[in-house]
Amino acid sequence: MTFYTKPLLLLCALIFVVSCKSQTVVSNNFTEHQPILNDTTFVNLKDYSNDFVYDMKYATSDNFLKAKVYDCAACFLRLKTVKAVIEANTSFMEMGYKIKFFDCYRPLDIQKKMWKIVSNPSYVADPKKGSIHNRGGAVDITLVDSNGKELEMGTSFDFFGVEASHNYLNLSPKILANRQLLKKIMKEKGFNSLDSEWWHYNLKTALNDKVSNAKWNCD
Ligand SMILES: [Zn+2]
Repeated sequence: MTFYTKPLLLLCALIFVVSCKSQTVVSNNFTEHQPILNDTTFVNLKDYSNDFVYDMKYATSDNFLKAKVYDCAACFLRLKTVKAVIEANTSFMEMGYKIKFFDCYRPLDIQKKMWKIVSNPSYVADPKKGSIHNRGGAVDITLVDSNGKELEMGTSFDFFGVEASHNYLNLSPKILANRQLLKKIMKEKGFNSLDSEWWHYNLKTALNDKVSNAKWNCD
């Protein structure tokens, strides 16, 4: 299986078609010459939007594993996940914020690599079961302001302790409000939160998609 990458043009063309629908004008050029992608196709988020910020922690050793497990940084997701995060980001941008990514789709081999380093299901999903990251439906994110500064969320990404939980309320009103905002918009756009990790969101319609081991090119 290979990834399908397309330039930003495809999204522009899609928006064109949608925006023209009300006038019942559909670009024949687009429908005849552009392939229709299945919603479960893996795509590179960068080909669909330039409005995200990235800090892909597992492509560096700046993570709880203290190991670089990706050959290069990229945010691949299933197309339906891409559509949903773009919708969420549009809402956040109206408020002056943007989504910053820490992790996206994670090929199964990478999950195995992580499990080998830390074989503890409290920290890493057992590759035998696979996680929603392996299904292309999970994102690890936070919000940044117009200066690119991360909003205060109470803990760093991948902090393993009760303080990272949505149920932990012994935090400042500002931090609780930031977490609430992230959760509210993500839920509105079709994601479930994970109680123990404020940064993790699963696309509801991706929970039963197949675990994948497709890899992206680092060229
Ligand atoms: Zn996650």
